[in-house]
Amino acid sequence: DQSKVKEFFRFCQENEVEFVDFRFTDIKGVWHHVSYSMASIDEESFNGLPFDGSSIPAWQPINRSDMQLIPDPVSYFLDPFTADTTVVVFCDVWDIYKNQPYEKCPRSIAKKALKYLESTGLGDVAYFGPENEFFVFDSIKIQDSINCQSYEVDVEEGTWNSNRAYENGYNLGHRPGTKGGYFPVAPVDSMVDIRAEMVKVLNQVGLETFVVHHEVAQGQGEIGVRFGDLIKAADNVQKLKYVVKMVAHMNGKTATFMPKPLYGDNGSGMHTHISIWNKGENTFAGDAYQGLSETALHFVGGVLNHAKSAAAFTNASTNSYKRLIPGFEAPSILTYSAQNRSASVRIPYVQGAKAKRVEFRFPDSSANPYLAFSALLMAGIDGIQTKANPGEPMEMDLFELSLDEIREKGIKQMPHTLRSAVENMLADKDYLKKGDVFSEDFLQTYKAYKFETEIWPWEARPHPFEFISTY
Ligand code: GLU
Ligand code: MG
Ligand code: MG
Repeated sequence: DQSKVKEFFRFCQENEVEFVDFRFTDIKGVWHHVSYSMASIDEESFNGLPFDGSSIPAWQPINRSDMQLIPDPVSYFLDPFTADTTVVVFCDVWDIYKNQPYEKCPRSIAKKALKYLESTGLGDVAYFGPENEFFVFDSIKIQDSINCQSYEVDVEEGTWNSNRAYENGYNLGHRPGTKGGYFPVAPVDSMVDIRAEMVKVLNQVGLETFVVHHEVAQGQGEIGVRFGDLIKAADNVQKLKYVVKMVAHMNGKTATFMPKPLYGDNGSGMHTHISIWNKGENTFAGDAYQGLSETALHFVGGVLNHAKSAAAFTNASTNSYKRLIPGFEAPSILTYSAQNRSASVRIPYVQGAKAKRVEFRFPDSSANPYLAFSALLMAGIDGIQTKANPGEPMEMDLFELSLDEIREKGIKQMPHTLRSAVENMLADKDYLKKGDVFSEDFLQTYKAYKFETEIWPWEARPHPFEFISTY
């Protein structure tokens, strides 16, 4: 879009931009970048910039390494952390061999998912509102603490270090205990200023924030960001993680979006609110359960049917499955319900048809947001197409259910390991492959990558807990 490109250069001129930083997301969700001095790029650059695709994990073989970045001229912002004025531009990846969007580019997959939604006639916009919780820890490691329940592992060294929540570092009597963070005022909440700084920088880079608060666990926080369409929401997750981690870093702290850093305390989720709109109407609003439409309930049914498979994308780390256990506001079984924080799917209390939406509670921020949102969308679309029945809502505290009861009631559970999620994904993948959104090649690459870099290395390492039992 030529006019957008012109607008971009006008913006750069007005802001005296010195560097342009082109960014793209790999399979894991890591944000990569390459910079150009302002004088060295022009409108032509938006047709494609070269990079080495063989140096990005699980992408190209060395003999087919030339790839192209296609900058997206509508998504740019000034990097608040660089010494020289730098503008960041989101990019998609182009495959010069197949002359098409790269099958392993998550942002391109997300765009295909949206195209597929449009092609079904079911909607023209999919809104996503992710809530990415995070922890802030002290960078200093404190060895002996009664609350020392987490370990930091240095993979290279093979050593384990105890680590504690940032606000737990000083015993001044004002600190939250396990699950005591939500939400006494300062001085118990010692993260007020650091969160405020994060919010200000987020606003600077164009994120609209609202609720800002301490979360339930020690050292845990959450900053609410306004929902957006699928691509924008996923772009915003990348920005949010960047800013939160950078602000913590600049304060001598370390922030992590790891799903379950502390044993015995709440983990961090990426609850994802979704609604699908068609021609200006919210297709999720209606007069079925909790003011939802039949369409919304089928969407929920589709996600519940495929959640064990979609988990490979929405809960993408070995650590993810330590969060999905009863008792910590994270779901472990696949049911839906209104307002219920123990269910996988919650229908938040909202007023008016416009705000009607469904909250999926199992995803976490170890997910690549482009892939996770696309997988959820594809599962939901499949549900609408097959008129999937989500079953009856379960209003009770689901954490009270015993394993026997769960079995008796025939309730499905989330997978317990990344291995099982990835295996389920390969056993149930047709919904992902519709419209060639996730190609077979990509799914196989994803599987191999997860096994080689996360599942096997994790399975092969002795765990400190195993030393507790005397063999
Ligand atoms: N931290 C909880 C989780 O792991 C969620 C708490 C909340 O409802 O915001 O999903
Ligand atoms: Mg929360
Ligand atoms: Mg929530």
